[in-house]
Amino acid sequence: MQITNIYAYEIFDSRGLPTIECSIHLANGKKVSASTPSGASVGSAEALELRDGDTTRLCGKGVLQAIDYINQIIAPKLVFHPQKTTVGANTTLAVSMALFKAQAAAENLELYQVLQRVSGTAQAKMPTPMFNVINGGMHANNNLHVQEYMIVPQAHDLDASKNYVQQLHAGVMFYQALKKHLHDSGQSTNIGDEGGFAPNFDNDMQPLELLTDIAKNLPEFSYKFALDVAASELYNPTTQTYDLLVEKNLTAEQLTAIYDTWCDTFAIISIEDGMSEHDLAGWKLLTEQLGNAVQLVGDDLFVTNPMKIRKGVMQKTANAVLIKPNQIGTVSQTIAAIDACKNYGLNIVISHRSGETNDTFIADLAVGTAAQFIKAGAPARGERIAKYNRLLAINHMLYA
Ligand code: PGA
Ligand code: ZN
Repeated sequence: MQITNIYAYEIFDSRGLPTIECSIHLANGKKVSASTPSGASVGSAEALELRDGDTTRLCGKGVLQAIDYINQIIAPKLVFHPQKTTVGANTTLAVSMALFKAQAAAENLELYQVLQRVSGTAQAKMPTPMFNVINGGMHANNNLHVQEYMIVPQAHDLDASKNYVQQLHAGVMFYQALKKHLHDSGQSTNIGDEGGFAPNFDNDMQPLELLTDIAKNLPEFSYKFALDVAASELYNPTTQTYDLLVEKNLTAEQLTAIYDTWCDTFAIISIEDGMSEHDLAGWKLLTEQLGNAVQLVGDDLFVTNPMKIRKGVMQKTANAVLIKPNQIGTVSQTIAAIDACKNYGLNIVISHRSGETNDTFIADLAVGTAAQFIKAGAPARGERIAKYNRLLAINHMLYA
């Protein structure tokens, strides 16, 4: 791979906030680019996101320092050993993703094929999509405390080439049925950051009743449900308790009992960040009580960090891992985190951020590493559907 030019510039994400786009030109005339997403419910141990902090420009959210770093330091050397603590994971990730795309372009390969090779994955595989159809918490201005209510369409076809297409259709049909139901019953069809609907509810369980009803009216498909509670945002470290919309000051025991009831009543297969990243005892309790029956995904808990994933295995917290490349800052380290999951038999959920661009890198990452799941928001809105459409394209290539 011979690089003739690397440069970066500011673009805007799905929330209308600045982010970094990095472009690489190759000697063979090919050009690739990659852009960095941004979270709202950010884990405290995530790698730094470098923002200018200049309040006279773009709400202080500008990324000109990061752009300068790429253009002045990285580009001239075409060398890649920056310190993430000062440079920012948003800076390094944009360059790192662009380099992987450049490698693919140089070799005339698809990105997922390069990722498959680098990660040592024997067989590329389509992931099961988790569609976020109701938004709450930090991603919407409704009253829900739980952040994400996801549907997980089940794959039934013996012909593997058909499963992802059917799961996407199931997601789309569910989303349209939910929209019609909300509209017909006079509720808001406004959406949150990840494209899910965001009306108010009486409590955090009610959306599960609604999802169950919608699923019943779509008998041609089969659905399970998944939650991202993002419980770090609901935790009071002083009292060591959690607040849901109605139930307040819950101990970890009480919160676990609520999840247990929800799992008994509804077809929940996965709960992400059911406890706060600062509540290790709560995580242990949750894993002990529900870990045999339900997938418990660590997001803020692990922040895509291989060391923290290994520690989680020793401490028996969670049994699956959310993978967000910008939490750790480079594609190589992301692959190291995925490798740790595979070594310990933990399920992998590749994830977008609530602030996204149209970059579809994570679709290739999920297929190339044979991750079990991908979550990229609702099956609607450009920056979300871009990932699901890229998966359709890859599905065609895998089974052509
Ligand atoms: P974030 O949310 O991108 O705002 O952190 C996504 C998640 O919590 O999984
Ligand atoms: Zn999360």
